[in-house]
Amino acid sequence: MNYKIVRLNTRAKTSKTSSVLIIYTGGTLGMAYDESGALVPFNFGQILEKIPIINNLDVAITVISFPSPIDSSNVSVLHWKDMAYIIYENYDSYDGFVVLHGTDTMAYSASMLSYMLKGLNKPVIFTGAQLPISALRSDARENLMSSLEIATAKIDDKPIVPEVCIFFNHLLLRGNRSKKVQSVHFDAFESENYSPLAESGIVIDYQLAAIRPYEPSKKLKLLNELDNRVMVLKLFPGITDKIMDACFAIPDLRGVVLETYGSGNSPSESWFMKSLERAIAKGLIILNVSQCNGGRVIQGRYETSRELLNVGVVSGADMTTEAAVTKLMFLLGQSKDREEIRRKLTIPIAGEMTT
Ligand code: ASP
Repeated sequence: MNYKIVRLNTRAKTSKTSSVLIIYTGGTLGMAYDESGALVPFNFGQILEKIPIINNLDVAITVISFPSPIDSSNVSVLHWKDMAYIIYENYDSYDGFVVLHGTDTMAYSASMLSYMLKGLNKPVIFTGAQLPISALRSDARENLMSSLEIATAKIDDKPIVPEVCIFFNHLLLRGNRSKKVQSVHFDAFESENYSPLAESGIVIDYQLAAIRPYEPSKKLKLLNELDNRVMVLKLFPGITDKIMDACFAIPDLRGVVLETYGSGNSPSESWFMKSLERAIAKGLIILNVSQCNGGRVIQGRYETSRELLNVGVVSGADMTTEAAVTKLMFLLGQSKDREEIRRKLTIPIAGEMTT
């Protein structure tokens, strides 16, 4: 990929100064209105002109920009590989990483990178904005400046947040526990099943007990084999076996995230279970997550979920759909052994589930 690299001329002078690599992928933060009034991404060089204060930071900043910044609705497996590779390649040269990314799919990308960057021991902070940086009331400046501070925050020379996170509107959340919940207000992200890692006010208040520990003995490994032959099937009253069978018949499909009701419940009628049984018998992995944002799947709690357990549906516990579908793609890419993948789906990789 043909990255554009810009080294900012900040106040950072000494070799002791912290350093951050910003990876600019696109998103509203860096968009401008075109002639028709639609928001389209523009180049990062121009963005920095909008926040001249960044040059006063005592942090050495380098920016790598995607050659063509994207609206995150266009994010693909290849973009995830690029983001993870850039971090992997530059890992030793920076104290932390800030990924500027559209909000629409940020929770998917942060989840995927948390799996791909095995042994990560430095902050990778995803952020973006609801309003472009050029808008007077934009949230971009606060989100970017706080993310830069978090990416370089240390106690006793150790990074405070050595994991993949999303910072947005005062909240630092574990990336693979986050969900976009707002498209209008500034508080766009939430983490229903895990407490925020920090809240920013006058100071940034870190919840140290919730943050993954710094483990210097671990070496970063890039695991970039992914398999996106998966789908998400959301149950709704009125769904039929025709619909289910048609989905399960998709050529090459390997895994399905089944969004069920409440604590992991589904219709218990035989046509429904038979359709699932047929899918599992032909080799598909079915992973059960709840349509509820909070709570968890407990297969067997109700009669309507006991059968799912019996036919071999895997419980996704309290994972978000974003964390589940990316985990499925990740594990399918890592192994061909169906039983191993099924087992690993129930074990946390990067704090994405509580078992
Ligand atoms: N459509 C935009 C994107 O995800 C929205 C945003 O950045 O907030 O790229």
